[in-house]
Amino acid sequence: MDDIDCAAERIDAFNKVALQMVLSRSLGPASSGVCKACGALIEAERLRANPNARHCTECAEDLEAESRRKNRCGPR
Ligand SMILES: [Zn+2]
Repeated sequence: MDDIDCAAERIDAFNKVALQMVLSRSLGPASSGVCKACGALIEAERLRANPNARHCTECAEDLEAESRRKNRCGPR
């Protein structure tokens, strides 16, 4: 029974991600599920956390690091 419960949970989690992707798409300029910077598919995990994510984890980290660097140095 445990195996069946586990599988059902996994399917449920998958459905939530799929539903969120469909919803975010129908809401217009939300995430298309594709990274704007490199064109790679954005990870389902990432979209679940942030349905509006426009960049994959790698590019988002790059952009974050860049903006952090800018904030630290600041324009002089
Ligand atoms: Zn990317």
